[in-house]
Amino acid sequence: MSVVQSSCAYCGVGCGVSVSSNKPNWTDVDAADLILVGDNKHPANYGHLCAKGERLLDSLAQPNVLRYPKLRSGMPLDWDKASTLIADTFAKTIAEHGPDSVALYLSGQLLTEDYYVANKFAKGFLKTANVDTNSRLCMSSAVSAMQRAFGEDVVPGCYDDLEQADVIVLVGANTAWTHPVLFQRILAAKKANNAQLVVIDPLSTATAKQADLHLAIKPGADLTLFHGLLGYLADQNRVDHAYIAAHTEGFDTVVLQAQQLSANLADLATQVGVSVTQLTQFYQLVANNKKVLTASCQGVNQSTIGTDATNAMINCHLALGHIGQAGCGF
Ligand code: SF4
Repeated sequence: MSVVQSSCAYCGVGCGVSVSSNKPNWTDVDAADLILVGDNKHPANYGHLCAKGERLLDSLAQPNVLRYPKLRSGMPLDWDKASTLIADTFAKTIAEHGPDSVALYLSGQLLTEDYYVANKFAKGFLKTANVDTNSRLCMSSAVSAMQRAFGEDVVPGCYDDLEQADVIVLVGANTAWTHPVLFQRILAAKKANNAQLVVIDPLSTATAKQADLHLAIKPGADLTLFHGLLGYLADQNRVDHAYIAAHTEGFDTVVLQAQQLSANLADLATQVGVSVTQLTQFYQLVANNKKVLTASCQGVNQSTIGTDATNAMINCHLALGHIGQAGCGF
């Protein structure tokens, strides 16, 4: 029996799967010949799969799945002929209209290595920058915020932080539905370590129902909520002045604006759409715990203020110096 390690491509958790077959030639296998299980050594899922991942083989069994190259007319052709046709068409188009007359639109589910090769092909060989994935659309606010806050698109955190955090804050994320295996990991960490789960979402989602604290804020109020948090942390003298002096710029200007919000918590709570009690409970959780992990998703990203809101969350972590360490960060 031969085994192939791969990844589930349905969501960004990237769970590892092991697929085995009794047939020596993988080109001719059908879904019925395969066995798929979660890869118990994979660091994203340690063998767990959600309902979507468990049913991956069903997608191979659909009659309209394209398993071999075909012309638009429906005529099948072998891989060599298909590659030659694509190469000739690219070459002819570039010769007639220049390299920017072609583009590659890729999937966000590509592995990092595949994405690298595709970029190298487009930028290094075809000599066009017309190459991108759908992930540009869903994550561009977060990317811009990272570039603004850190100077480059980096995420200072990893899945292992979940097991070490004391407070996990999910913002604009229905993780129970969109990243199920990750959510099970969060629930397991919550149970094992008594971590507090805060969910910030206008909707009472399946994720929010599992939260210790659900802030059902007004849509778009996440920027105000986190900017106010920065002011609150400064008001309570919780910020790390040594870290701020060593690693940040422009703190005094930002914190003055933030303190205008936190000066009146009742007004701030009204603006955000939650009670003062809830607002204060959340702010105290962040102020009184070092290992706070904040994670945001499309509820924040898909907004005209998504970059600012994400930057406001990162600012709070920078002000506390709670970033780039086990169990805390953004
Ligand atoms: S959480 Fe589910 S859908 Fe997402 S990668 Fe894992 S198995 Fe696939």
